[in-house]
Formats: sequence, structure tokens, C-alpha cells
Amino acid sequence: RYVTVKKSKWVTDEYDIHNNLLGRGKFGEVKPCREKRSGRQLAAKFIEFSGPQERKDVTNEVEVMRSLQHPRLLQIYDAFENKSAFCIVTELVTGGELFERVINDDFVLTEKASVMFMRQICDGVSFMHSRHILHLDMKPENILCLSRQGNRIKIIDFGLARKYNPKSELKILFGTPEFMAPEVVNFDPVYPSTDMWSIGVICYILLSGLSPFQGTTEPETLCNITTAKWDFSAEEFECISSDAKDFISNLLIKDPSKRMSCRECLDHKWLRKQIQRATKAVQRTLSTKRLRKFVYRRKWQRAVNAMLALKRMGVDLV
Ligand code: ATP
Repeated sequence: RYVTVKKSKWVTDEYDIHNNLLGRGKFGEVKPCREKRSGRQLAAKFIEFSGPQERKDVTNEVEVMRSLQHPRLLQIYDAFENKSAFCIVTELVTGGELFERVINDDFVLTEKASVMFMRQICDGVSFMHSRHILHLDMKPENILCLSRQGNRIKIIDFGLARKYNPKSELKILFGTPEFMAPEVVNFDPVYPSTDMWSIGVICYILLSGLSPFQGTTEPETLCNITTAKWDFSAEEFECISSDAKDFISNLLIKDPSKRMSCRECLDHKWLRKQIQRATKAVQRTLSTKRLRKFVYRRKWQRAVNAMLALKRMGVDLV
């Protein structure tokens, strides 16, 4: 299905928009919707733009999504544009954020389960990199579960994704501090391996609930990242296998050229051998006490950020 941005119609001509909110992004809301013609349940992301740059950014997002047809990546279905807003219609993902699923009482988190998730993440990002596209905003909030049952995931939010040309330098000035690679913090060129660093951070947090570079202030976090000093000394890592630690150690490396690529990750012994080798270590239940704290802190942080964004836009808050 080749999606062209429709300008002569608006989303409401072809879709019924439901009122409940699936999520809120930087520039607008995501709501469930139903295609009138087919009855298909989908999601509509509304993005308001105030200037030409924002318009260019959304056009880029549509462009990127169009070129990424893969089961682990959120698929675009339709797109609309009017004078002040865009609407991107995508498939509907109903399982919520991966980390929220994992901290649920009915979920048993093990290394084996973590491997299953990390493998899918690497699968999706590997496809992106094979199409010369960098995600550049890999973080737990952008990994959703496809449904309430089942363990399939989807990578979402291609708003910051960029085409990568090895022959020209690409520098970026955005991201979420905790998950940013040192080259982003230093405003040095970025590479496919920039996503690999963030995947390493996600994996570290998934297994321990601890955020490897998080400081008490944002400058402190950024400083922790540029020095790239981290370790497995916390007691949460005592029961983690050496294969898992080796996996993370080969991603959280300051020099981008030394990090594993997605393909190398998929070939790494921790991701590869898991299914056959159901050893005790990988089946041990991991405590999600810390991870729960992490999820609540991020939620709180995001709420504060959303409020600050509204304030910047001049919305009066009571
Ligand atoms: P951010 O501020 O995180 O960059 P954004 O403006 O780029 O956000 P998205 O991350 O794409 O917006 O969407 C915001 C939230 O809406 C997501 O975190 C997710 O919870 C929810 N969401 C987005 N797309 C879907 C979908 N297709 N199905 C279900 N929920 C979705």
C-alpha cells in the first residue's frame, strides 16, 4: 500500500475518530479510529504545525514510515494534510508500552523473556538500518506491545528518524537525555551505531530497572554519558548471566565504531542460543521492583515535559 498525503480531504471524511486518547505526543494527540469503508480499527496521530520547519518534519516522518514495511515497525496506513495540521493513520497497537507490560503482576520477567524482546527490537532496527534510516529516538516509551496477550512488539515514533548517507556527516540536536549516545551529547556525527547505544541502555534498564547514566540533574546525566563510565556493580546484576552482560558491554562503548551492529547483536550468543539453552539463569524470575520505580519516574517526567510544552505554546494552565 503506497501512501500519498491527501490534501483535498480530511481524515474525518474517511474515518470515524474515537474520543479516547491512546497517547499524547509533542505536537498532538493519538486517537483510535475506524475506517468507514472497511470497518478497520486503526490509530490517528494528529500533528499541528505552526511553521514550515514543523511541516517539513512531519513530511519527513511520513516519508520514512512509507519506506519501512516490516512487522516490528509501526505501519503507516493513510495520511492527510490541511492548512495547520497533519494526520497520520497507522495500524492500531493495543498492548501498551513494553515496560508497563513487564511490570504487571501477571508477567514473569526473566532473561529469556528479555531476550525475546531484545531480539525483536534488533530485528526492527536492523531493517531500518538496512534501509539507511536511523531511528535516533530509541527509548522504552517507543516500544509498544502489539496486543494485551502475546509478546510481539512494535517500534513506534519515527518523528526524529533520519536518512543516513555514509558519505555525508549527520549531526542532531535532539533526543531524550537518558538514552542519548555520547556523540549526540557532544554534537558529533551520528551513525547507525548511535541507535545501538540506546538499545544497550534499554537492555540495561530492562534487566535491572536501573538507568545507567541517569544523574540527579540533566547536566549530570549528560556528563555521565560523555564520560561513558558505567558498571554492573549493583546487586541487581548479581543474578544476570555473563552472556547478557557481554551483550550490553558491547553496546555501551564510547567509540561508535566499536559497538555491535544490529546484525551482530542478532548473532550474539545471548540472543542466539537462548531458545535451545533453557538454563536456570535465563529462566530465573527477575525482580521488577526497580523497573516499576523507573516507569513511574519516566511517567512523571513526561507529564512535566508535556506541561512545560503547553506553557511554551501559551496555553494557560490552571
Ligand atoms: P514523543 O513526544 O514521544 O516524541 P510523538 O509526538 O512523536 O511523541 P508518538 O510517540 O508517535 O508521538 O505517540 C505518542 C504516544 O501515543 C505513544 O507514546 C503511544 O503511547 C501512543 N501511540 C502512538 N501511536 C500509537 C498506535 N499506533 N497505537 C497505539 N498507541 C499509539
